[in-house]
Amino acid sequence: MPEPYDPELGGPAEPKPYAPEIGGPSEPKPYAPDELRALDRAHVWHPYGPMPGRQEPLIVESASGVRLRLAEPVEGQRELVDGMSSWWSAVHGYNHPVLNEAARGQLDRMSHVMFGGLTHEPAVRLATRLVEITPEPLQHVFLADSGSVSVEVAVKMCLQYWRSAGRPEKRRLLTWRGGYHGDTWQPMSVCDPDGGMHELWSGALPRQVFADAPPDGFDAEPDPAYVARLRELIAAHADEVAAVIVEPVVQGAGGMRFHSPAYLRVLREACDELDVLLVFDEIATGFGRTGKLFAAGHAGVSPDVMCVGKALTGGYLTMAATLCTSRVAEGISRGEVPVLAHGPTFMGNPLAASIASASVDLLLGQDWEGEVARIGAGLRSGLAPASDLPGVVDVRVLGAIGVVQLDHEVDMAAATRAAVREGVWLRPFRDLVYTMPPYVTGDDDVQRICRAVCAAAREG
Ligand SMILES: *Cc1c(COP(=O)(O)O)cnc(C)c1O
Repeated sequence: MPEPYDPELGGPAEPKPYAPEIGGPSEPKPYAPDELRALDRAHVWHPYGPMPGRQEPLIVESASGVRLRLAEPVEGQRELVDGMSSWWSAVHGYNHPVLNEAARGQLDRMSHVMFGGLTHEPAVRLATRLVEITPEPLQHVFLADSGSVSVEVAVKMCLQYWRSAGRPEKRRLLTWRGGYHGDTWQPMSVCDPDGGMHELWSGALPRQVFADAPPDGFDAEPDPAYVARLRELIAAHADEVAAVIVEPVVQGAGGMRFHSPAYLRVLREACDELDVLLVFDEIATGFGRTGKLFAAGHAGVSPDVMCVGKALTGGYLTMAATLCTSRVAEGISRGEVPVLAHGPTFMGNPLAASIASASVDLLLGQDWEGEVARIGAGLRSGLAPASDLPGVVDVRVLGAIGVVQLDHEVDMAAATRAAVREGVWLRPFRDLVYTMPPYVTGDDDVQRICRAVCAAAREG
């Protein structure tokens, strides 16, 4: 029986009339661009940025389709074609009606509830879908809140698997140079030890085992000498190594390099022989970017543990997932600590999970292979002229990824300006000007992106 309402006890009192002095749900007064820039500079960290910031970020007001709309014209452009898919994630472009609808529908039900002791359809549907579309032995899904966290979870799974198996000394990781696996501690320890942004921590990070970077070239014949060295290294450290972790086929933020899928088969065989687990970090390569739904598909091998993220939610919200085989899950369950001790506050977030399922369905419901191939062909023809530019050492394309490599560090400000002048958003790094456009990018816009990459390579 509900008590009769007694205002003295507190309770659902009449809502106060809205008083602007107190603040409330009014639209905040918009900042002028100059004000926004000053506050941003004073208070807000940006990726790999100093504080206060040195470079002036462009202010984005909205985004739709493949276009970012700026708050004010820059280099004469108010709209930029996005050549970055917001770091591999926005594969369907921005403001997509299907993803918006999924978000709105879920928002009206609940945007979040805790995942401890509770479950819900969005998470179950997404996990089931991921099991269906990833290699068959992967059966169990940990929904993490970012790519880096999904790699932490993958590492924890592997170390705990061996601990449960009575081999706790197997707790190092082996990888090849040139990789990138995220910015939290364990992922940092397997990023490229020289080229990466993490070398300054070399004394403080766990010391992992590094093989040479895989030889360049998706179509190159595997190098037998490299294969032999790789096998020997794994064999030499098998007693202390829990897992080999690599990005399959494309090393992304570590240098945008492509290698032969044959090396993944070598890793699979060596790991099976030597009692080492194999982790594929498909956070950048997943969901079609390289021309296969997952890059492991180029090699026809399946890892024991796999991470996906970035394009998982179509770029709408942060979510990633770690998948593992029943062997790994059951191995952990047999241990003295039979649980996986990991449980982020926002684990399984229903809003992100609903959008992710909608994004995966949207992808698989279209001829994504055709779209990725079409963009790849456009990049190949549009970037060909870059080979003749002074300072360009390599031009390469795989799936819907185009890369121009220079013989010098890019002047980021000059290169960005050159791309913006062409009406395109690019974010070069190190000696690389690269693009991975949304799959919905039309042919004219792909060519525009190519012109911008060439301009950035020329002027950067
Ligand atoms: C981006 C990336 C990560 C890290 O993901 P975050 O969501 O940025 O934490 C890990 N591995 C690879 C291969 C990536 O490209």
